Amino acid sequence: MEKTLSIVKPDGVSKNLIGEVIKRFEQSGLRIAALRLLRLSRDEAKGFYIVHKDRPFYESLIIFMSEGPIVVMVAEGNNAINKVREIMGATNPKDAAPGTIRADFASDIEHNIVHGSDSKESASYEIPFFFPSIDIH
Ligand code: UDP
Ligand code: MG
Repeated sequence: MEKTLSIVKPDGVSKNLIGEVIKRFEQSGLRIAALRLLRLSRDEAKGFYIVHKDRPFYESLIIFMSEGPIVVMVAEGNNAINKVREIMGATNPKDAAPGTIRADFASDIEHNIVHGSDSKESASYEIPFFFPSIDIH
C-alpha cells in the first residue's frame, strides 16, 4: 500500500470543495489515513514548496498558500501517488482532462484547488512535514 500527501489549497477551502475532493479520493478506492485543517505561515509554505525555490512563481505561490486555511491529508491505496495525480488533473486547468478536479474547479495555473505528491521521494518529505507517524492510521 502506497501513501501520498494531498492538500485542499486555500482556494479549494474557500470554494467549499473539501468534501468534493475527499469524496473523489474515497470513491476511487483510496482511504484517508490522516487529516488536518490548518493555516500555513509564510515560512511553513516556503518550507513545504522548497523544491520550487528558484522558480519564477515561488513568491506568488507562497503568498497564495499562506492566505487562508488548507486541509492536508494522507491518502493510502494501491498506486496512491499516481491515482491522486490522475484525479487532480494537469497543473494548468486549461490542460487538465475533463472530469478531473482541476478541470472542474480550478481558476488558473496557480489557483488549482489541490496538491498531490508527485513521487515516492516527494511523499516521504511531504507526509512527515504535516503528520508524525502516530497520527497516521
Ligand atoms: N504553479 C504556478 N505557476 C506555474 C506552475 C505552478 O503558480 O507556472 C503553482 C501551482 O499552484 C502548482 C504549484 O505551483 O500546483 C506547484 O507546481 P508543480 O509544478 O509542482 O505542480 P503540481 O505538482 O501541483 O501539479
Ligand atoms: Mg508538484
